[in-house]
Amino acid sequence: MKHQATIRCEKIHPQIYRIILPLPGKKPGPVNVYLFVGTQTTLLDTGTLKTAHHLEESLKQIGIGFSDIDRIILTHGHIDHYGAARQVVNGSSGHVSVAAHREDLPVIESGMEVSDRQFSKFYRLMGVPLIFELLFYYVGWIFSSLAENCRVDFCLSDGEKIQVGDYEATIISTPGHTKGSICLYLEKEGILFAGDHILGHITPNAFVMLESDFDIPWRMSQVEFYDSLRKVESITPRIVYPAHGDPITDLPQTAALFREQFYLRQKKILAILEKNGSTVYRIARRLFPEISGKRLPLEIFLAVSEVFTHLQVLEKDGMVVSHVRRGAQCYSLKY
Ligand SMILES: [Zn+2]
Ligand SMILES: [Zn+2]
Repeated sequence: MKHQATIRCEKIHPQIYRIILPLPGKKPGPVNVYLFVGTQTTLLDTGTLKTAHHLEESLKQIGIGFSDIDRIILTHGHIDHYGAARQVVNGSSGHVSVAAHREDLPVIESGMEVSDRQFSKFYRLMGVPLIFELLFYYVGWIFSSLAENCRVDFCLSDGEKIQVGDYEATIISTPGHTKGSICLYLEKEGILFAGDHILGHITPNAFVMLESDFDIPWRMSQVEFYDSLRKVESITPRIVYPAHGDPITDLPQTAALFREQFYLRQKKILAILEKNGSTVYRIARRLFPEISGKRLPLEIFLAVSEVFTHLQVLEKDGMVVSHVRRGAQCYSLKY
């Protein structure tokens, strides 16, 4: 896989640095890792395993080695955020501690949110053809080379205060993008580090939240995402530093765009269902006809996740109904 060549390192605030690490593909773009230097030198996210050496180089430019880091805080359990955590821990001879929210701990420690069997049941219910299911596993296998599983030493909860560098940060639990997504807020400075919860250049994904004990996920990622967004808006940060892309200075405007996109997508799904009832997979293919090419399996997974999480809300609001037909969940308009 080819990496974009952009590796940049900039001071964004006294003793706080933004390190931009390459990530394959166009979306969501390079990863921002933040370094807080001071009493508790802290790294917020790490980038992937493939860019661990870039991270080490960038830190060197600031005069920091892996062994100077006291802790790593992970905003959530996606490989572009925790992928190099174990490399940093190993490079520090094990003295760096790793912190994350309890709900994303299984994926960070084992690389799996739920078993393959559970994924398989979900794909069948969504009406995904077997060939794509097999391709999803292949993509999953490629992705696994971008990260090493890492032990989480302590868990972070909503409202908890934590020292990062010479600053005091508050942990804000913001489920939606993943179950255990967190933001870090420097209250005195009005700076929010948002992970993937808020991105300025694209609407973040509220991924389907699969569960080990339920074939149909019961948690509503979209509802949780917008509840979390309201929570973050209510603290009115002066500036938001996301995990991909440039800082956001007008959160209300960005949040309004997310909501606009959300309602537009709901409308499009309802329009598709007006003609006839359908499975999530078929709706996804009609909603995103442009999906094709090398990234097809990944794009299909994202599209299925997106459509399903929107249908959960439409069903809750009494706009659509669903029933299982020939092993797949079929959705239609409720009249
Ligand atoms: Zn993510
Ligand atoms: Zn990300």
